[in-house]
Amino acid sequence: RPISVAIDGPAGAGKSTVARQVAEHLHLTYVDTGAMYRAVTFEALRLDVDVTDEGAVARLAKHMDIALKPSKGEVDVFVNGRQVTRDIRTPEVTSHVSAVAGNPQVRKILVKKQREMGKNGGVVMDGRDIGTHVLPDAELKVFLTASIDERAQRRYEELVRKGYRVDWDQLKEEIRLRDEKDQNRKHSPLKPAEDAIHLDTTGRSVPEVVQAILELSRT
Ligand code: C5P
Repeated sequence: RPISVAIDGPAGAGKSTVARQVAEHLHLTYVDTGAMYRAVTFEALRLDVDVTDEGAVARLAKHMDIALKPSKGEVDVFVNGRQVTRDIRTPEVTSHVSAVAGNPQVRKILVKKQREMGKNGGVVMDGRDIGTHVLPDAELKVFLTASIDERAQRRYEELVRKGYRVDWDQLKEEIRLRDEKDQNRKHSPLKPAEDAIHLDTTGRSVPEVVQAILELSRT
């Protein structure tokens, strides 16, 4: 049975970039669970569903078909067959995603889908609760962190590259707040699994971090 790798950590720690490359090297499937919470958030905003209305957002999530398809080193995201890859990364979605991620009914629905994707092993899954809750039997669990300044810097560069105008202090505060909400929510909060290996990526390049994880996967 192919192994499963769980990669968790706060926003901007480099999880998705690293997880995608680790998956490529190990010939495993990369699953970006954050994209799923973002997809539900995007749909709610698009359909004018109040993101704080737990029942309404859960109904939406339940009837949504979310597909993650690898393409050219990236992952394309589809909702009911419609491509939303870029739509789910806007600052508007980012600022509303915590409310959706804190909805226990939505979590139940998405965790079920995620476990289904991981049931035969062979996945590298990144998120906040993968090692603790979604795939507690994963062979390798990594908890990626980086200083708040470094995480804000990475998000800043990403947003500027995409053409957004961003205020540094505001960005940093938003990241801090999003982490705080992820850590303090009642259901499956962001926290390292007891058997997770902690990797601080501050000042380390993507290839270095990928190599470190590949080495761990061999032991
Ligand atoms: O990873 P990304 O920053 O795209 O995730 C967006 C949001 O989705 C996070 O801020 C978090 O609230 C939520 N999330 C979660 N559990 C996961 C993955 C993401 O609550 N497994």
